[in-house]
Amino acid sequence: MKDIFPNERQLWIEMENAAREEFELGGYCEIKTPVFEDTRLFVRSIGETTDIVEKEMYTFGDTAESTITLRPENTAPVMRAYLEYELYKTKKFQKFYYIGPMFRRERPQAGRLRQFHQMGIEAIGSYEPLLDVETIKIATRVYDRLELSGYEVKINSIGCEKCRPGFRNVLKEELVKYKDELCELCKVRLDRNVFRVLDCKQKKCKEACKNISTIEEHICKDCHGHFNIVKSALKDIELEFELDPHLVRGLDYYTKTVYEITHPSMGARDTICAGGRYDNLISDIGGPPTGAVGFAAGMEASMIAIVNTRKKGPKRKPDTLHFAPDVYIVSIGTETRNYCFKLLNELRQSGVSVDMDYECRSPKAQMRMANKLKSKFTIVIGSDELEKGVIKLKDMQTGEENDAEDTDKIIQIVKLNK
Ligand code: ATP
Ligand code: MG
Repeated sequence: MKDIFPNERQLWIEMENAAREEFELGGYCEIKTPVFEDTRLFVRSIGETTDIVEKEMYTFGDTAESTITLRPENTAPVMRAYLEYELYKTKKFQKFYYIGPMFRRERPQAGRLRQFHQMGIEAIGSYEPLLDVETIKIATRVYDRLELSGYEVKINSIGCEKCRPGFRNVLKEELVKYKDELCELCKVRLDRNVFRVLDCKQKKCKEACKNISTIEEHICKDCHGHFNIVKSALKDIELEFELDPHLVRGLDYYTKTVYEITHPSMGARDTICAGGRYDNLISDIGGPPTGAVGFAAGMEASMIAIVNTRKKGPKRKPDTLHFAPDVYIVSIGTETRNYCFKLLNELRQSGVSVDMDYECRSPKAQMRMANKLKSKFTIVIGSDELEKGVIKLKDMQTGEENDAEDTDKIIQIVKLNK
């Protein structure tokens, strides 16, 4: 797990703002669901034989009969909310976005966290392929806005409940021939969930998968038609993509279109955003048949990719470690402190950021702090200023001093300089 300190906040804010703006431009509204859910929700939706459900969930006993799980992803919780509150009754088609922490008990390794963050969107209530394209476009727009260059969009179709069983058998027959070359886990996956073999990150398994037929050769007419519309619409909007005929996702609920955005600076685990269609998820958890599509972007992974590209680009101004206040108040002598504290609150009330030293250290130490914080102005209050009721406002860059008889004047000067 990771603590996020103030010096890292700049990129988090940039990323969240870019995501919120793009998501809302696309008509997606924010939804916040709890960080834990009934365990059964994830087992049913993500699938019993996936890595997440088999070994990565944080599950705790709740009542004698039930267990709860820290959410490993946020699609199932959003669908649960859509169902539980019968949102489909008021408006069948709804668009949501979320930003927040997810939890998976992963083996400690570079770039993987047990608490990490995802931001994602879900368009619920339609089977239309253009929505698949809309979600891909929105993901790339977020990255464009963040000036991430060099990312790659990879797409595939993994079929539906009609054509997948047939393909599952073909895949099994073809992969069994390479059984000896597969990793131990994939040997088990051959029987339990053969699609997982395609997602294995082990080199030898990746090699074996190169020899097998593509999924596209086996999907049904309906899935073909859907995929063709997706591909041609991506071309129409000039969104560059690559077909990856063996792309599958680590969660069982996907149907038809699946996609990933990868970045070459990331090494073996290069996916920064992943998504696709999940037309059976809502019915799997007890709702009416409802088409849906969306993605989840890994925020830490995306950030690494952004930092990597920015390193190569033109130098940016370094972020200031702490927030720089508009004004720093230096109080001389204990008798001025209450006055300074009152002034500080009046200024803050008017939207001026202001700080002071509560420790009552020497004026010199306080001036040093004002410099360190890179405060734009300082106000020095001694017994003289207290008596005369005049406040001296000093511009720390130009050295210019202004006398102010009241706080309104200070606010005016500070705001003029913002
Ligand atoms: P992967 O194959 O990369 O493990 P996944 O199929 O398990 O992904 P998704 O929910 O599709 O899981 O993940 C979407 C993205 O979220 C990933 O590509 C990655 O960037 C990020 N992500 C997933 N798990 C973690 C983690 N434990 N720590 C940091 N980021 C993660
Ligand atoms: Mg994973």
